[in-house]
Amino acid sequence: MAANWKMHLNRREAKTLVEDLLKAIDGTSNEVLICPPTLLFDTVQAACKGSKVATGVQNMHFADKGAFTGEVSAEMVKEAGAGYVIIGHSERRAIFGETDEMCAKKVLQADAFGLVPVLCVGESLQERESGSTTKVIDTQLNGSLEGFTPTSGDRLVIAYEPVWAIGTGKTATPADAETVIKHIRERLSEKYGERIANSVRVLYGGSVKPDNVDELMAQPNIDGALVGGASLEAESFARIVNFQVHAK
Ligand code: PEP
Repeated sequence: MAANWKMHLNRREAKTLVEDLLKAIDGTSNEVLICPPTLLFDTVQAACKGSKVATGVQNMHFADKGAFTGEVSAEMVKEAGAGYVIIGHSERRAIFGETDEMCAKKVLQADAFGLVPVLCVGESLQERESGSTTKVIDTQLNGSLEGFTPTSGDRLVIAYEPVWAIGTGKTATPADAETVIKHIRERLSEKYGERIANSVRVLYGGSVKPDNVDELMAQPNIDGALVGGASLEAESFARIVNFQVHAK
């Protein structure tokens, strides 16, 4: 279960949230990832020390270094202690003009520095309504993974996030999310073979909340969730981490 805090919280709130969360998820064997704003990363990293919670950032540049005002490099991210980096979130694509080509360079750079890319893909409402969801997903997957072959399934995470479901309170139905995620896994299988495709974590993201997580997680191809709003409160994110699926 991955938390994307986006540009929220201050240092004190971040520390308290992690401390409360760790108490609430004590004993879980589910994998947890927290991606705070970059400037709060050290606080979160320190608060997670000694726990199994992994940490990541929400973005990075693809170049080693250079005149890229406001950006951070993979080396900086790695040195800070992160294990993961979110790449191609729809907000980065829509607001900051991130293209599949840029995502592909970031994926390769992340991998070169031992960071696991959490690659986000997803269609807009207009694309869904015009029936082009899988075409959009294929274009994003092919473009953003260009040149990249993970050495094992745990070197890549994909998050399927329909843009119309992010921060809107609208969730894809579990069946719709499952259909697209199954499609993603089939494309990964074509690219990387079945063994890797089956072990890549494919997450669903888009208004995941305590009251819909169980149903989403009951779907066979959904391995977890990328959570925005509901990850900003310890109680709600803990309930998501501690999802309850009895027969999967
Ligand atoms: C996200 O930021 O990736 C996200 C899915 O946000 P929310 O859970 O708020 O829809």
